[in-house]
Amino acid sequence: MVREKILGGNWPEENPEENPKDDPQEDVIDDSDDDSERTTGRRGSAETERLQAMLDTPESDTILRPKRISEMVGQTEVMEVLYIAIDAAKKRGDPLGHILLDGPPGLGKTTFATCIPREMGVPVSMASGPGLKAPKELIPYLSNLEPGAVLFIDEIHRLPKSVEEYLYTAMEDFRIDIVLGEGVNARTLNLALPKFTLIGATTRAGMLSGPLRDRFQIREHLSFYKTSELVEILSRNAKKLDVQLTAEASEEIAKRSRGTPRWANNHLLWVRDFAQSKSDGRITLPISEKALAMRGIDSIGLDRQDRRYLETLIRVFSGGPAGLEAMAHTMSVSSDTLEDEVEPFLLRSELLTRTRRGRCVTPKTFEHLKISLS
Ligand code: ADP
Repeated sequence: MVREKILGGNWPEENPEENPKDDPQEDVIDDSDDDSERTTGRRGSAETERLQAMLDTPESDTILRPKRISEMVGQTEVMEVLYIAIDAAKKRGDPLGHILLDGPPGLGKTTFATCIPREMGVPVSMASGPGLKAPKELIPYLSNLEPGAVLFIDEIHRLPKSVEEYLYTAMEDFRIDIVLGEGVNARTLNLALPKFTLIGATTRAGMLSGPLRDRFQIREHLSFYKTSELVEILSRNAKKLDVQLTAEASEEIAKRSRGTPRWANNHLLWVRDFAQSKSDGRITLPISEKALAMRGIDSIGLDRQDRRYLETLIRVFSGGPAGLEAMAHTMSVSSDTLEDEVEPFLLRSELLTRTRRGRCVTPKTFEHLKISLS
């Protein structure tokens, strides 16, 4: 069945031996879920499995992740663009153009990437940039695509150059070259693909090469959420979890969520556990303050790692300037983690500046950490 999909009527019938028996496409798993959305994943790389596992995390994702764009909160400009593109594509009976979503982790890139195919009524396959180490690892994803289907590649900026270049003709001409056999017997087969939509997600739009970036018809940046938007997400999710959440508690959790729905959801799940274990289960302001303090989350949402970053910059580098690598080595944390997960919120909170000479703290940092300047 899988092979028929790959052939698409183009495979040379007279060369059955060239149709690799142990091709990776055989390993397709189709985990259609109960709300009629079809998500296909493929075993093959630990990274992709990690991604699939992440998407399947019981509470934070199956219950809390919005299923439709209309259930999402905030990002109204991005939503408007997507609604128009989806509506027009449906009216034309065409697949959507390729979409690039960028922004810090936890802001909704994967959520959009799972809602868009539902709106279009098409299946989605999920892959991850670092998991696709060579063009041949991309072939099963491309050759199994159904017409109009969505291929989602997370962390697309981490695709190796060879894989990225292989994507170019797939994205533009909906064709790929497949090399069959080896050595003198090698032959190249030019395989036509059905028209599909690539959704790429990245935390570093700047790291994408120009040719790849230009092949996306829609490029949208997701920004941090307002406290009021996080309050809305929290109260909707408290209902989904069937817990009582007071308005004051919701405001406090939102303020400590760094403008990020993933943090808001994680805080909510922890505060719910705390309330059920230490109290009567109702999430009140004192309960949420105690629960978040226990996890080292301060009044503006900084966690221990954020404060360690700022304290290291002050203690070891006299407040800066310090290079990213120097900070990463000193803290024994990868520079990617610092750049993707720690710095965006510190920059936005004006607790950090990035100058040509390196990272620097600001007067606000001393004030927030209650460190005197002398
Ligand atoms: P990213 O892919 O950008 O890292 P996700 O899409 O995985 O982020 O979002 C993390 C979690 O935050 C999701 O499980 C979802 O529950 C929640 N979330 C993200 N964006 C929204 C939104 N706009 N409205 C409601 N919840 C959201």
